[in-house]
Amino acid sequence: MESVAFKCPNCGAELVFSAAEQDFRCEYCQSSFTKSEMDSIAATQAEKVEQVSEAQQQLADEFQSTTGVYVCQSCGAEVMADDNTAATFCYYCHSPVILQGRVSGEYQPAKVIPFKIDRNGAVGMFRDWCKKRWFLPNDFYSDSQIEKLVGLYVPFWVTDCHNSADMEALGKKVRTWTSGDTRYTETKEYAIKRNATVVVRGLPADGASHIDDQLMEALEPFDYQQAAPFAMQYLSGFLAEKYDLNMAAVFPRVQKRAVQACDQLLRASAKDYSSLSVTHSDIKVLSTEWQYMMLPVWFMTYRYQDKTYEFAINGQTAKLAGEPPLSRFKFWAFTIGLSMAAALLAGIVGVFFT
Ligand SMILES: [Zn+2]
Ligand SMILES: [Zn+2]
Repeated sequence: MESVAFKCPNCGAELVFSAAEQDFRCEYCQSSFTKSEMDSIAATQAEKVEQVSEAQQQLADEFQSTTGVYVCQSCGAEVMADDNTAATFCYYCHSPVILQGRVSGEYQPAKVIPFKIDRNGAVGMFRDWCKKRWFLPNDFYSDSQIEKLVGLYVPFWVTDCHNSADMEALGKKVRTWTSGDTRYTETKEYAIKRNATVVVRGLPADGASHIDDQLMEALEPFDYQQAAPFAMQYLSGFLAEKYDLNMAAVFPRVQKRAVQACDQLLRASAKDYSSLSVTHSDIKVLSTEWQYMMLPVWFMTYRYQDKTYEFAINGQTAKLAGEPPLSRFKFWAFTIGLSMAAALLAGIVGVFFT
């Protein structure tokens, strides 16, 4: 049998033909495609031949020869830093890190959104955020803790997903009116069909397994218009996380969000009905374009009572996210104080009225 290697249009891995299902499957990201879907994708996406210019090659050489990889012996986090910015402690667990060697070319991002918030700005925002929160452990906003706030480029896979979306639904329009003493209700039912090709652009997924996905989603959106082609000077003074989740590993997250976006779009197109019940829905990500970008995040972790708390600021937009630790001591001191005050007040009121 003639063997043709098809690449997965979502993650680039090799597809395997499934005899049982009569379709092509990706064992990495779990996508599946019929033969006709494969043909139409192949027709619309002629193989792009990438030309590497001399300048790009020079940058790649510079990146590999002047960027070190530091590894944390304690939690395994790996960060990259240029030779002018040696890393000393782990951004995540604060243990010492050791230089492991040079970085390889696959970790060079295509684009980067430069930091717009500098360290002083980030520290000020963190202090303001703490001021609005009661019961924080004192140590959480101490100077030695604030030193652990790091400017970190987080590796992100930013995707454009091309989807086919089919939906069948029953829509109802209800009208009521009164004539004389009689109240009328008219219900009209409509069979609704939607068939659309949808491109969802700029869906991000971070490639750092250490960092909480929800925390990164809370920092969105980033403005990709301001993304610049990667250049070494952006790294200077900052750390960059080395991704440990590749495209196939983050694809399920991207896929879930793309499907949700398509579903919302189809439902919104039928919003004139008073009620809508979907009887059939088939939404599929047919192909995905990937951009590997580094996005700027001020990041800090805090270890308190066997739990790691993560705090982050979007280094471009200044959006803050994180779960504040709660000092049980301060909380109980406050509650006991409050009940004593209440008891005292009750005593005074009691004395006053007797
Ligand atoms: Zn795949
Ligand atoms: Zn660590």
